[in-house]
Amino acid sequence: MERKVNNFDCKEEKDMFFSPHPVKKDATIKEFYSLGTIIQFKVYGNKAERAIDKATDRIKDIDNKMSVFKDYSQLSKINHNAGIRAAKVDKDTYFVIRKAVEYSVLSGGAFDPTIRPVVGLWGIQTDHARIPNNDEIDAGINLVNYKDIILDEKDSSIMLKREKQELDVGAIAKGFAADEVKNVFKKNKIKSALINLGGNIFAMGNKIDGTPWNIGIQDPLKSRGEIVLSISVKNKSVVTSGNYERYFIHNGKRFHHIIDPLTGNPSEKGILSTTIVSDHSIDGDALSTCAFVMGLNRGMALIESIKGVDAIFITENKIVYSTSGIKENLSLLNNDFYYEN
Ligand code: ADP
Ligand code: MG
Repeated sequence: MERKVNNFDCKEEKDMFFSPHPVKKDATIKEFYSLGTIIQFKVYGNKAERAIDKATDRIKDIDNKMSVFKDYSQLSKINHNAGIRAAKVDKDTYFVIRKAVEYSVLSGGAFDPTIRPVVGLWGIQTDHARIPNNDEIDAGINLVNYKDIILDEKDSSIMLKREKQELDVGAIAKGFAADEVKNVFKKNKIKSALINLGGNIFAMGNKIDGTPWNIGIQDPLKSRGEIVLSISVKNKSVVTSGNYERYFIHNGKRFHHIIDPLTGNPSEKGILSTTIVSDHSIDGDALSTCAFVMGLNRGMALIESIKGVDAIFITENKIVYSTSGIKENLSLLNNDFYYEN
């Protein structure tokens, strides 16, 4: 399924201004496929091209290390050695998995990077997507437990305790990658850019005209590009997890890709999407998945307890909820939805 760019400012090429030291007014845009999604960079400034080349290399490097679909990745090395021995990993992979474990603890297991055996059963977004039977699900969830991830920082190695256990960092790696792209841009003197990794967005700096970015939040019930609300931000990560991202339909029912580790089934908490606004995208990516699986009440309580992080929940009954810190920055743009504030 196609994953398209879903924000506002990607479509606007206006509001440029005259400067006595001309900065290239138009954005340099690059789109390519990596990390299982469409990546788009929209970068302002005279140094954009070089910065984009460096960032593209960084993304490919992260994909090569952390993809479960690449046999040579560091993640595959951990998975192939499950129950046998620890696998040496580099600091990027170690950091992402350590963060994933932190969010597993914080969410009481709603987030769990050992979910891969169950995700594999469902095969969502592969050509063998299907509904597994109860025995398969039971066997799958029996292998899921983040407490079986043995982290050895001194040795820079990671081991899964039991055979057949498998890691999947699909719910957090794009956030890490967005932060890394931002760092590469910063090093290359970029001040204004929009980094979009399939809906995992980092709005760097302000827009070129000095005003904040307006990020559109996808209408979860409509096709790509239609939005429910917009949120105005400066130098923030905006990450959405939604049941419309990757799914299949069977007998009129939607089976999506965010799995509740307790049931082994797509999470059913009455949520269509969760959006997290934060300084670091790795936190936003992990927390959007946490909040989706935890549901409105527990998810909202978790986000409110974390300083500097905000959330927007869109529920099946078309109500939009947000944390207190972000109310001022939201504009509801679609009357099919009701903003509960
Ligand atoms: P997206 O990949 O659409 O941005 P998420 O960040 O929510 O969405 O990540 C979903 C992916 O993470 C799934 O495709 C799967 O690989 C993995 N996953 C599914 N359920 C969980 C879970 N409960 N905890 C951790 N990872 C999960
Ligand atoms: Mg996520």
